[in-house]
Amino acid sequence: MDSQQFREAAKAAIDDIAKYYDNISDHRVVADVEPGYLRPLLPASAPLEGESWDSIQADIQSKILPGITHWQAPGFMAFFPCSSSYPAAIAEMYSNTFNGAHFNWICSPAVTELETIVMDWLAQALGLPECFLSGGPTHGGGVLHGSASEAILTVMVAARDKYINEATAHLPEGEEKEEEMWRLRSKLVALGSEGTHSSTKKAAQVLGVRFATVPISEKEGFTMTGEALATKLDELKAKGLEPFYLTATLGTTDVCAVDDFEGISRTLAPRVGKPGEIWVHVDAAYAGAALLLDENKPLAKPIANFHSFNLNPHKWMLTTFDCSAVWVRQRGHLINALSIKPHYLRNQYSDNELVTDYRDWQIPLGRRFRSLKLWFVLRAYGIRGLQAHIQSGITLGESLEAKLVTRPDLFIIFTKAHFGLVTFRVSGDSEEKINSRSQKLYDAINASGQFYLTSTVVKDHFAIRVCTGVATVREETIQKLFDLLVETTEGQLKLE
Ligand SMILES: *Cc1c(COP(=O)(O)O)cnc(C)c1O
Repeated sequence: MDSQQFREAAKAAIDDIAKYYDNISDHRVVADVEPGYLRPLLPASAPLEGESWDSIQADIQSKILPGITHWQAPGFMAFFPCSSSYPAAIAEMYSNTFNGAHFNWICSPAVTELETIVMDWLAQALGLPECFLSGGPTHGGGVLHGSASEAILTVMVAARDKYINEATAHLPEGEEKEEEMWRLRSKLVALGSEGTHSSTKKAAQVLGVRFATVPISEKEGFTMTGEALATKLDELKAKGLEPFYLTATLGTTDVCAVDDFEGISRTLAPRVGKPGEIWVHVDAAYAGAALLLDENKPLAKPIANFHSFNLNPHKWMLTTFDCSAVWVRQRGHLINALSIKPHYLRNQYSDNELVTDYRDWQIPLGRRFRSLKLWFVLRAYGIRGLQAHIQSGITLGESLEAKLVTRPDLFIIFTKAHFGLVTFRVSGDSEEKINSRSQKLYDAINASGQFYLTSTVVKDHFAIRVCTGVATVREETIQKLFDLLVETTEGQLKLE
């Protein structure tokens, strides 16, 4: 393809993409294909000779679209939003244009410098404590990773090395120190609550450290409290184990609970600044975007006592996947744990430490130009535009809750609308009946193809989750969903 052919093909593709978005409501939300649908539609091997662009593009409509689940459709209320926007899409085109592996500053100075600036902008917009800014007093700063899972694994590596180095700092270099380091490694425990996203457990699995959970209860709104954490820490210490890391969550996946940051920091305060200090990471992958609203800013204050924080702009902040923003209060811990300097990566700027080399803040070497889309989104919408988007998701969640409570004969709110997520169940006179009716309703709604919802099981309660943060959701969508929920539930109860 030459540049003239590219011009024509790319313009046609853009028309096609704009048409897709203009008609996003026309599709069934979830793809209606069977596993293995694609193989019979494609040749058994790659073509020997290059094909015409027309025939390649035609296959988008006929072969790919049927297997697409439409995450931007208003009926998509499953999981969490994974939002796109035109400014982000255009940024991706430019990012692809300046394609490179961008691991060191000199690989493209703009890629590094824009990332540092945009991460400071976003930290300020969220009201994150000053310690997370690149120019802050503790030498912190932000970096863009691909996913929250990657962010959590990365900070856990830094937490592990910090813990072990501090616990063995009193020993002279030598075999004894080495032995003690390996002994400690075998005792390490990473912690989360029972509501913590599975990525923390997975990170522990990858690092080969133990994982333990702090219990949560319905009575406390499924938040991790400082007292529950203290009890768990005592238990682990009594077994001779070394808790070194904790994920605290702002917006759990099941019910959008927020852990008790104040209580957690009170429990951990006696260990701060001493060997045995526990690294606290705040996972705000989804709901962190709600900190853009001033009313939520107080939630960010106690995070000043913690070590790192992540938020996925690719979830609720109109920035296309993948874009996970991570901040640390002391970048030195990441760099100590992750820096490797073979000869081929050396250059005058890096060697003199004049620049940031983001390769030392992440697991992969190479990196994408992700900050461009965040920059475009922040500028095209402005903080006000993004606030309006977040507020809309929150208001629509509250609207659904208000409708559900008008029918106590049919529905029970399980957890109230919070950050654009409501969870509810179908009424019934026993726990068993509530569970089976809720499951049935859930299956029927998803089978309709008009909406895509997810469910969760918390402490043996089956609940339906509705996430209202996708940018195309409107009040009419919420009304339509509510009408369908009522009609379907009434129909099911009649048949019982
Ligand atoms: C979505 C989510 C994750 C996982 O995010 P990835 O970027 O897909 O790894 C982790 N934690 C929370 C709280 C989430 O909402």
